[in-house]
Amino acid sequence: MSPAGPDREAPLCITCGYDLTGQPIEGLCPECGDPIWRPELARLIAGGGWSRAWGAFLFGLLSLPGMLLFGIGGVVLGALAIYISSGIERDYLRGGISASARHLSGVGQVLGFFGCVFGLCVGLLWLIF
Ligand SMILES: [Zn+2]
Repeated sequence: MSPAGPDREAPLCITCGYDLTGQPIEGLCPECGDPIWRPELARLIAGGGWSRAWGAFLFGLLSLPGMLLFGIGGVVLGALAIYISSGIERDYLRGGISASARHLSGVGQVLGFFGCVFGLCVGLLWLIF
């Protein structure tokens, strides 16, 4: 690592500024012994938040064609989208999810809601007729 100025991408120890690249998150700073914590942790959770947000969005999106085809497909996929995005909402309130990832999962939640409701309607029509 170059000693000239802090590397913006490198995770640094909050206490002493030691470069923590390659250190396990749950471990201690090798320089000062303080726990390696929130900045790196939050970034990791936020990264997981993005993939989950995309999951919620895709499930919500797929629930629409899913409900047209089977009814039940829309219900299952829509429920999955709602379940995933409600978990994201919870993590967002704890500060682990970025606002834009939360927005993406919110779109998935709305799509999933419609997929779920219309899927139920389609399923009921299937049962009746
Ligand atoms: Zn340190």
